Amino acid sequence: MLEHLLSHLKSYIPGVIWPAIPSPNAAAMLSLQYQLEKNQYMPPEWIEQQQLRQAQQLLQHAVETVPYYQEKIPACLAKDSLTPELWQQIPIMEREDLQEAGNNIISGKRPKGHGQLNKIQTSGSTGMPVTAYGTQITRFIWLALTLREHLWHERDFSGKLASIRPEGALQPGKALHGDNWGNATKMIMQTGPVAVINSRTELEQQLGWLQKESPAYLLSLPSNLRALAELCQLRGITLSKLKGIRSYGELLTSDTREYCQRVLDAKVTDVYSSQELGYIALQCPEHDHYHVQAESILLEILNEDGTPSAPGETGRIVATTLLNFGAPLIRYAIGDYAEAGDPCPCGRGLPVMKQILGRQRNMLVLPDGRKHWPSFPIKTWQQGIPIKQFQFIQKSCEHIKLRLVVEQPLTPDQEQQITKALQHQFTYPFKITFDYVDEIPRSKGGKFEDFMSEIA
Ligand SMILES: [Zn+2]
Repeated sequence: MLEHLLSHLKSYIPGVIWPAIPSPNAAAMLSLQYQLEKNQYMPPEWIEQQQLRQAQQLLQHAVETVPYYQEKIPACLAKDSLTPELWQQIPIMEREDLQEAGNNIISGKRPKGHGQLNKIQTSGSTGMPVTAYGTQITRFIWLALTLREHLWHERDFSGKLASIRPEGALQPGKALHGDNWGNATKMIMQTGPVAVINSRTELEQQLGWLQKESPAYLLSLPSNLRALAELCQLRGITLSKLKGIRSYGELLTSDTREYCQRVLDAKVTDVYSSQELGYIALQCPEHDHYHVQAESILLEILNEDGTPSAPGETGRIVATTLLNFGAPLIRYAIGDYAEAGDPCPCGRGLPVMKQILGRQRNMLVLPDGRKHWPSFPIKTWQQGIPIKQFQFIQKSCEHIKLRLVVEQPLTPDQEQQITKALQHQFTYPFKITFDYVDEIPRSKGGKFEDFMSEIA
């Protein structure tokens, strides 16, 4: 995969273009890429051993210099050589714990070379905003994993990238242009240009902008990609130069993935990341499941009793930022659930997450107390009725409210048809009520959830 870079590298020495002599920063990035490239194909046991070696360094640092862990983790745990059994004795840090910890999560003595702290505030789309901190090293790893993701999916670095996202100061409707894809690639090579617009921009305007920009790659949230694809289909519009789509920031369902791939005629690849943890997992280049970014995150998927989930089981995600020595997160429960996967036939030894299932509040609760993450591909219940946007809200054990954005309210017959189809899909005769709205608001962070339970 690194071969993919050879003809693109920037040289630091005037006149010398091949082989390129990289700048010191670029050399560090390339050396890291070389290791990432080799690490990924090592056996899972070897990767786990390296993670434990690194985790021990972090643990020792945390019990010596971070007030929160001094209080929570017995110092003796960090003394012996670390085993999976010892690791499991470390208490889990809930989001509430991180909120309450405040500045006690910051190391009193950051080792040299880790650079300045930067504050990370989550948007609050989780219903429970937290503050965390990164360092120059976590930032560098972020860039390295961004580059790894490009290499995995063999992107053509000369193409134009269009990015439609909620973050940043960009006002809806205003576009921004740059001559490169950003910091991950900039230090080592010249890429094609980038065009950015805020995802709060009105959809028609977004599509007009996309047609004008005609990018090779498109980056956005799954809900926004889906809405764009629906509009393309409605208008018979194709984005002829589009080669690939990258999604991030929300759950990507297989329904949305397939729909966008079919209508926009480009492969969708998904990224699982969070502001406080950075990259957690990237989609395998050959499959729809994800590989944990084990060099940066020690990820556990745990059953309710705290034991590791076996492949095929669903558990909650508990993650450790292995390289964050400024304000480490150790065994931090981010709030999401995932299904553990079998080793991947692609040959990578990086752990596999079969699918990401979201949060507890996205679970359907059945009257007998069973809970699961519901699957409701729109084609299974839409009954041929045009629907612009929808959201399910479970109000009680017997009642689900369906919020709809439609041209005109449905007839009683249509409501009846949809109700029947949904009862079948949800495997219970819930009372379904319809709520017609002009718009379904997004969270403060600009994100969208299509199923929320008020009782999960
Ligand atoms: Zn794989």
